[in-house]
Amino acid sequence: MELIDSHCHFDFEQFSPDRAAVWKRCQEVGVGKLVIPGVSVSQWQSLFALLQGCPDWYGAVGVHPWWVRDLDASEEELKQQLLQWGHGERCIAVGECGLDRAIDTPLERQQAVLRVHLAAAAELQLPVILHVHRYHAELLAMLKEFHLPRGGVIHAFSGSEEIAREYWKQGFYLGIGGTITYPRAAKTRRSVAAAPLESLVLESDAPDMPLNGRQGERNSPEYLPEILAELARLREMPVEEVAVQARRNTERLFAL
Ligand SMILES: [Zn+2]
Repeated sequence: MELIDSHCHFDFEQFSPDRAAVWKRCQEVGVGKLVIPGVSVSQWQSLFALLQGCPDWYGAVGVHPWWVRDLDASEEELKQQLLQWGHGERCIAVGECGLDRAIDTPLERQQAVLRVHLAAAAELQLPVILHVHRYHAELLAMLKEFHLPRGGVIHAFSGSEEIAREYWKQGFYLGIGGTITYPRAAKTRRSVAAAPLESLVLESDAPDMPLNGRQGERNSPEYLPEILAELARLREMPVEEVAVQARRNTERLFAL
């Protein structure tokens, strides 16, 4: 069984003390590949340098909504930088980028920066890794404006069956993470149980999003099999079958 963590901030400093040991444990439990998203322009250099250390780690280039506040590049400069880094052979996606209602940055500013990412993804013919928090209608409207030949993924999906279906209809996979391990996330657990298995990819979002029972601890890609097990339970399917399909979906999404 080989699993791919489709969204993991393995370059973050939380992993600096023991990154090699964590990666060894990942491989021992069957997590064989990691997709590491971009979060800010100043982070891309170190992210892509880290990828030189392992052929099974892949990168993406983007500005996370939480980092939009610190962005000094103009929209035109950002576009050029996204295109430049996006052409790199280890860059498999644009993102993460998106819209978040929980931050102070005005929606219009977030939308302007997201629009640059979507245009770059279309031009690069890369999939896009999207972060969305309580702005589903706004995001869906923007996705309709762009023709994204490779679609993308709604990372850390949480929401209703209707919203899940909207994204899937528009060519977007749903990133399934630790949220489903919390009984209180009843709505998301229901929509994930009902979504087509072909639409789901697994992710840890480590070091964030600790699983139920590990609140307050550093999350890690080595716990991905626990998310898989919960997904299989929710769908009442054999773990192995869900694992194979999730890996296939991730390979198709990112052309791995
Ligand atoms: Zn993330």
